[in-house]
Amino acid sequence: METFRVKTSSRTDLVDITGEVAKAVAGSGPRDGICVVYVPHTTAGITINENADPSVRHDIMSVLDGMVPWDGPYRHAEGNSAAHVKASLVGFTAVIPVEKGRLALGTWQGVYFCEFDGPRTRQVHVQLVT
Ligand code: ZN
Repeated sequence: METFRVKTSSRTDLVDITGEVAKAVAGSGPRDGICVVYVPHTTAGITINENADPSVRHDIMSVLDGMVPWDGPYRHAEGNSAAHVKASLVGFTAVIPVEKGRLALGTWQGVYFCEFDGPRTRQVHVQLVT
């Protein structure tokens, strides 16, 4: 398993980690399998979406903010329930087919680390299952 760090710069942030994931997978050689990208956190997640128009990233975060406002009738005393809820909505993993050591992503797909309670330094695990 490979692990790399992601430094986020604001409370909510979508960080393109496609390059890091591709590098971690390529390090295993030209093998076929599936790549599991996993975030070991409770207020951050992983998603795959468009890599061309940055407005898509903005819209995703904006819709999530609308669905799960930071201030709500929450019980969790830490005060970051919105981040926990958003992380569960997005999920903590992405599974990507790997062909000859390369991610089989679509042309317009990128892998994104989703920060919901930043800024922080986070970890991402990448494991190639062959
Ligand atoms: Zn919390």
